[in-house]
Amino acid sequence: MGKIIDGKAIAAGLYDQMRQEVEQMEVQYGRRPGLTVIIVGEDPASQVYVRNKEVNAKKVGLVSEVIRMPEQTTQDELLAVIARLNADTTVDGILVQLPVPKHIDKDAVIAAVAPDKDVDGFFGMKSGFTLKHGYVAPCTPRACIHLIKTTGETIEGKHALVVGRGELVGKPVATLLLNENATVTIAHSRTRNLGEIARTADIIIAAVGKPKIITGEMVKPGAILIDVGINRDENGKLCGDIAFDSAEPVAGWITPVPGGVGPMTIAMLIRNTLDCYLKHVK
Ligand code: NAP
Repeated sequence: MGKIIDGKAIAAGLYDQMRQEVEQMEVQYGRRPGLTVIIVGEDPASQVYVRNKEVNAKKVGLVSEVIRMPEQTTQDELLAVIARLNADTTVDGILVQLPVPKHIDKDAVIAAVAPDKDVDGFFGMKSGFTLKHGYVAPCTPRACIHLIKTTGETIEGKHALVVGRGELVGKPVATLLLNENATVTIAHSRTRNLGEIARTADIIIAAVGKPKIITGEMVKPGAILIDVGINRDENGKLCGDIAFDSAEPVAGWITPVPGGVGPMTIAMLIRNTLDCYLKHVK
């Protein structure tokens, strides 16, 4: 029987820890870390994500601000706001909620955020520098690594399979696993014999976006399973990329969906803000 990696509880513990850390930071450095989130337009899902970020940033005591800009905002107007925040020494982290409206070049926006304030971790990954050069890692990939580490199992030397090579999760999480000295395989839609490969993996991170494509018979007994996918099953119920019911009895550890990677992602955004702050004040 796999042990459940309870992302919700782990995130709650991290928030408590970070709240205390923020109090100490204020005493030691004379100000609290600042996070500014920019949202352009009215995308309903983005509105929910931004509200969650704001609530949790406030919970740990960050100086947090949300800048809401209308759908018709021009790229130059958005870039001007980013430039102002780049120059503001009370702002440690800047996050532009994606997607931005179609008339705005997403890559230009990402590139405009100062690398030392890039709490989404795009810069570090794009440059291939990753953590080695001090840039923070993207939130969801960092959440995956953190969750694996909470099991107490080592990553070094293990065979880790990442299913999915997306820019936001698959590729960066594979890089982070390499940094942890795992032997990494990346599978994608053209991979042959996924089941065969999966059965040799000590760790599987599934970041595909297809319900239950990793089944119990594809899992090596005792493996650690991290499920990033957020899907609806045939009954409209939220589910991951891993078929929980068949995989859980075989796995050593498994994250549920919901309640696994999801709650950890925002906790990692706050952690990234604290890490950027520490680089600014030290
Ligand atoms: P993405 O960029 O579309 O990447 C999906 C990847 O899955 C692609 O590399 C694709 O391969 C691969 N794929 C598709 N069908 C496959 C198959 N049958 N076998 C193996 N690989 C297959 O998606 P994403 O942005 O990484 O997101 C993936 C999932 O994670 C989504 O469900 C998303 O909602 C979820 N997500 C969750 C969080 C969270 O906080 N929990 C955060 C971000 C994303 P090709 O490259 O060959 O097309």
